Amino acid sequence: MIEFKNVSKVYQTKSAELTAVQDVSLKIKENEVFGIIGFSGAGKSTLVRMMNGLEIPTSGELIINGKRNDKLSKKELRQQRQKIGMIFQHFNLLWSRTVLENIMFPLELGKMTKSERIKKAKHLAELVGLEDRIDAYPAQLSGGQKQRVGIARALANDPAILISDEATSALDPQTTDEVLTLLANIKQKLKLTIVIITHEMHVIRRLADRVAIMEKGRVIEEGTVAKVFTQP
Ligand code: ADP
Ligand code: ADP
Repeated sequence: MIEFKNVSKVYQTKSAELTAVQDVSLKIKENEVFGIIGFSGAGKSTLVRMMNGLEIPTSGELIINGKRNDKLSKKELRQQRQKIGMIFQHFNLLWSRTVLENIMFPLELGKMTKSERIKKAKHLAELVGLEDRIDAYPAQLSGGQKQRVGIARALANDPAILISDEATSALDPQTTDEVLTLLANIKQKLKLTIVIITHEMHVIRRLADRVAIMEKGRVIEEGTVAKVFTQP
């Protein structure tokens, strides 16, 4: 489903070249939860931006659903990005819009009528357990509730892939647990591939099937969570 083949990404800055990702090869399978863990600066966000088509690898190949990303037109990249749901550490919600309007937002680019969009957004609000709060504004919600809105919005375009970019890093342990349980339930219901980017080991242990550990742009270890995190 997502395959990195010897992918490197070099950023050109005014003064120097910076290799953010170096010779990464990874296969993320359909319907699995794949964790990518590493300290700040390890190259995790760069991997995410490449999956989203916001950055193109400097070398190597990135293949998503059988298509090489660098062979896609701008329009095709945009279409592909719509099929990748994203959730973020700081939620990235629209503060002047209600819960329902936030969830509906990604649907505004599509062809649905307003009443279809409302129906779909209500269904998604129910899926994340926010059906009682659809008229609230984000500022009136707890952190966990805000992330539930983020999750519902990420699912609006029926993505095949959901990428969680440090989505629980701003939440307390109990709320983190609730959000991870919700993600596990959603994966059961919707048949999604979930990619979890985090610096927190317990998040990976809790949810991931397989994991890659990144350090200084490289994948230094990869395998099932049991294998990678169990002492020999
Ligand atoms: P992580 O998400 O694991 O913190 P990043 O992918 O953000 O790692 O960063 C990897 C390296 O690439 C870091 O050294 C970072 O400073 C650098 N980097 C990230 N984005 C850019 C950019 N747009 N221009 C130059 N360097 C960048
Ligand atoms: P950080 O966590 O470092 O604050 P994010 O991971 O939230 O940054 O976002 C990385 C970049 O991707 C930002 O410039 C953000 O605006 C952009 N971005 C926002 N929405 C999306 C999306 N749906 N898909 C891909 N990139 C997005």
